[in-house]
Amino acid sequence: MAKDPVCKMNVDEKRAAATSEYKGKTYYFCAKVCKDKFDKEPEKFINKKKSERSL
Ligand SMILES: [Zn+2]
Repeated sequence: MAKDPVCKMNVDEKRAAATSEYKGKTYYFCAKVCKDKFDKEPEKFINKKKSERSL
């Protein structure tokens, strides 16, 4: 399972609605809207601290 960096949902790599590559890493998204948000400001989601919404 991969984690959607936008909404923090767990996403199955094989069933991801969308994927995006950024700095050589592949990110998986539950929906295309999450990918769109990520593509606009990838740094915002990557640099986010874990503390905010941990499981
Ligand atoms: Zn999502």
